[in-house]
Amino acid sequence: MNADDLDELLARLPKKTPREVFDELEAARRAAEAAPPPEPSIIPMPDYPYGLRGPLSGTMRFSCPLSCGWYHDENPSHEPLGTFVVPLDPAKLNEALTAHAEARHEAFRQRIETAITDHFDQAHPGR
Ligand SMILES: [Zn+2]
Repeated sequence: MNADDLDELLARLPKKTPREVFDELEAARRAAEAAPPPEPSIIPMPDYPYGLRGPLSGTMRFSCPLSCGWYHDENPSHEPLGTFVVPLDPAKLNEALTAHAEARHEAFRQRIETAITDHFDQAHPGR
């Protein structure tokens, strides 16, 4: 295939009218506006203190937002996978995998939030 073939191929594809393109952009813009704002979180951005190699690589360090020196480490790759029940209906596999991943992510978020909340209760009461 050369450039002329490609041009010909593209020319044969159905073309969108400017109106259709505009409607698509407008629909995308409205969807973005209607989307809920991201859930507020007390979780700060993590650091990766051990880099990419070694047994502790992948460790995420969540430091105290008040920079007191406290931190909470999490390593998602060392986390137990938990129980995953393979659905009998193969069509539901994707759904089940997504639900499982979401549950793990939720537990992960909850652990970090609890650690930070406990730290604030102990070290920075009232903040
Ligand atoms: Zn602190």
